Amino acid sequence: MPSLSDTIAALATPTGTSAIAVLRVSGPDTKSLAREIFGKAPAVRLVSRADYVDRSGNLVDDVLATFFQGPRSYTGEDALEISCHGNPFIAQKILEDLFARGCRPADAGEFTQRAFLNGRMDLSQAEAVMDLIHARSERALAAAHQLLRGELGRRMNALVERLLGVLARIEAHIDFPEEDLPPEDRAQVESGISSILFDIKNLESTSQYGRILREGLHVVILGRPNVGKSSLLNALVGRDRALVSPEPGTTRDFIEDHIVVGPHFIRLVDTAGLNPSPGGLERLGMEKALERLADADLVLLVTDSSEPTRPALPAETMTLLDATSTIIVQNKMDLGIPSPSSPLPGATLIETSALTGTGIEDLRAAIIAKADAFRHEPNNIVGINARHAHRIANARGLLQSGLTKLRSAAPTELVASDLRDALAAFGEIIGRIDNERMLDQLFATFCIGK
Ligand code: GDP
Repeated sequence: MPSLSDTIAALATPTGTSAIAVLRVSGPDTKSLAREIFGKAPAVRLVSRADYVDRSGNLVDDVLATFFQGPRSYTGEDALEISCHGNPFIAQKILEDLFARGCRPADAGEFTQRAFLNGRMDLSQAEAVMDLIHARSERALAAAHQLLRGELGRRMNALVERLLGVLARIEAHIDFPEEDLPPEDRAQVESGISSILFDIKNLESTSQYGRILREGLHVVILGRPNVGKSSLLNALVGRDRALVSPEPGTTRDFIEDHIVVGPHFIRLVDTAGLNPSPGGLERLGMEKALERLADADLVLLVTDSSEPTRPALPAETMTLLDATSTIIVQNKMDLGIPSPSSPLPGATLIETSALTGTGIEDLRAAIIAKADAFRHEPNNIVGINARHAHRIANARGLLQSGLTKLRSAAPTELVASDLRDALAAFGEIIGRIDNERMLDQLFATFCIGK
C-alpha cells in the first residue's frame, strides 16, 4: 500500500487543450509547498489568484489556487487544487515543478484511496465515486449519488448490528458448554438469522439492476432476415448506424450501439437474421446472435407484419426466449396488412414502422418499462456491484450454514463461528478489509488524479 506520508500530485482533468485544467496535491507537505510556491500562507477554502512561478523563477501561468486544511478535504489531509489554463504544456510544467519540489506522482485512485484510509468515506462510497464519474443515465446517476451518500454502508451497518445481537445471544452460552442453548434463545437466534438472510437475499437480488446501471441494459434485436432489424436500430439510435438493404441477410455479424432511452443507458445489439435453414456464413452469424442472446436483459423480437404467414424462427432460439424479457416488435405496419398472432404469447407487443417512425416512441416507452422492472425498490435504488454481490453471496452461504447447524443441534460454537465469518464478509463490503493487495487492486481501477 502506498505511504500516506508522501505528498502526491496529479492532473485531475483529461490531458488535452481545454478552458482550464485542474491539478491536485495532497499530503503532509502541501501547506509548506503552497507557501513556497505562492510566497505566503494559503487561505483556507478560499480561492486565490496567483502567479505560478517555478523553482527556476520562470512564470508558468496565472492560476487559481484553493487550499483545503485536513481533515476537511476530499482526502482528509491537507490538499491543494490549482486551476491553470487548459494547455497540456502548462499543466505538465506545473506538474514537473511540483515533482521537483518533492511531490510524488499519484497512483491511479490514490486520492480516493487516501479518503478511504483517512476515514472520509467507506469502501462502497469510494466505489460510488467511480460510478458517479462513469454514470451515463439519470438512473445510474441517482444510484451513484445514493451509494456515495452511504446508503449501502447504512444498510450494512444495520445488518452488522443485528448479527452482533444474534451472536451475543449465542456467545453468552459458549462459556457454559455443558448447558444447551435454552429453547427460547434458540428460537430467537433462528428467527434472527432468518430475517437477516431475508434482507441480504433482497440486497443480492439488486445485483442485476446494479450491472444494468453500470454497464447499460443489454438489449438484443432478433428476427428473421429482412424484417427491418437494422432499420429499427437506426430508428432507435436516431442516425444511420446499420446497413439497411433490401437483400436478406446483410447483417452477417452484429452491430452494437450505446444509446440513452429515457432515464436508461442501453447497449443495443443488432444481430444477423435468424433463418431456420441457414447457409455457411449465415450459420456463423446466427451462432453469434445466439451467443449474444445468452447475456441479454431484453430481446426485441422483430417480425414483418406484412408477411401473410409467419415463417418459423429456429426452435433453438424460441426456447431461449421468455415472455417477460421479450418485446415483440411487429414492424412494417405502414404496409397496412393486419398482423398475424404473436409468436410468443404473453410478451409485450408493439407495432412499428421503422420506415415512417410510427410506433418507435411506443417501443421506447416499452423498453423503459422493462428496464424499470429490474428495480426491486423503486424509491430506494441500491444496485450492488459485482464485488458486493460476491461478498454478500459469501455471507449468505455462511448464515445458511449456521442456520442448518443450529437446526441440527450442532455445538453452539460451530454456529457462532459461521456467524463471525459472515460478520467479516459484511465488513468487507464497506471496507473493514485487512487485505492490502485487494485494496490496491480495487483502487487501481480508478483513474489517475481521482
Ligand atoms: P434486417 O435484415 O432485418 O436488418 O432488415 P433491414 O433493416 O435491412 O430492412 C430490410 C428491408 O425492409 C429494407 O428494404 C428496408 O427499407 C425495409 N423496411 C424496414 N423497415 C420497414 C418498415 O417499417 N416498412 C417498410 N415498408 N419497409 C421497411
